[in-house]
Amino acid sequence: MAIHMGIMCESCRKLYFVATSRAIKPSVSAAEMYRLKCTPPCPEVTEFRKDSMRPYRVSEDAFRSGYAKEGEYQFVEIPKPPQPP
Ligand SMILES: [Zn+2]
Repeated sequence: MAIHMGIMCESCRKLYFVATSRAIKPSVSAAEMYRLKCTPPCPEVTEFRKDSMRPYRVSEDAFRSGYAKEGEYQFVEIPKPPQPP
């Protein structure tokens, strides 16, 4: 298991990896944005900022295939830095 950056489809909860998925492409409408086009039968198309990607723990097989289904990935909590007083 390794940690990779991914973005989850809000509709079907499939997780796509930025580094390996062909479903993620740079947005044509805005710089700094990406477009996720989910795979059929899910019709979802979403645009997101690079900083909304999150780290997930997944198997290397899932990472190489470009996506992981619900239950195949585990969200990794990043501790927030301490806030200045
Ligand atoms: Zn979807």
